Amino acid sequence: MPELPEVETIANGLHKRVAGDHIESVWVGNKPEPLKSSAVEISRALEGAHIERVRRVGKHIVFNLQRDEGPARQWIVHLGMTGRMLVAAAEIEVPSHTHLVAKLASGRELRFVDPRRFGRLEVRESDFTGPGHEPLQITAEDFARLFHGSKAPVKAALLNQKLLHGVGNIYADESLFRARIRPRRRANTLTQPELRKLHAALQKVLKAAIAAGGSSISDYVDADGEAGHFQIQHRAYGREGKPCMVCKTPIKKIVLAGRGTHYCPKCQK
Ligand SMILES: [Zn+2]
Repeated sequence: MPELPEVETIANGLHKRVAGDHIESVWVGNKPEPLKSSAVEISRALEGAHIERVRRVGKHIVFNLQRDEGPARQWIVHLGMTGRMLVAAAEIEVPSHTHLVAKLASGRELRFVDPRRFGRLEVRESDFTGPGHEPLQITAEDFARLFHGSKAPVKAALLNQKLLHGVGNIYADESLFRARIRPRRRANTLTQPELRKLHAALQKVLKAAIAAGGSSISDYVDADGEAGHFQIQHRAYGREGKPCMVCKTPIKKIVLAGRGTHYCPKCQK
């Protein structure tokens, strides 16, 4: 499943390719799962619209749509497990599992492809901000206040989309490792210095992953839809039994909040 840095990379790549283009017509498939708004609503919002901007909100891709007459709308795409947004020349064959095709004035097509259909397509008139705080924009003070008010294990609090939106399993484990905080600790037991460290580590990890992905933007949205391969070097996530990079103690894996959770039992307190 794409995490925040990947979605940011995809949204930036789409912005570079389709911002300023114009949607002439829309085809929506007949599978109901991806349609959070009805096919009619989606077509009405997209057809004839000008794509002003593409951006990321949490783990969603948001297209800001403008039109000469009628309200501005937002087209919100969640990629789910296997969803992809492709920008393709019209003559390139439409792949199977395509659920939406938007024909652009430039002659290209914007296609939403999703074999497993956990992705979601939605249109809105109001500004989409998502349920929680944006992890890259929240201040250290607000972050401390948010986590100080939670009795959940800190790892679960990081994954709680009502607090922060877009932080997934990998970046939760990696930021806790860097902040040297044990994932099971109750969020409200963290000291102010620990909360500051965690806030800084989370933003640093996410920014590093976005920077690493910047070079492979084109891979994400190319006509053939091959996903780019980029990631920060994992220090905890997926390293069960391997020596900690700081102290050589084997990295431990537990299940917390239903997710595989990796940490160093010596470095993380
Ligand atoms: Zn260690």
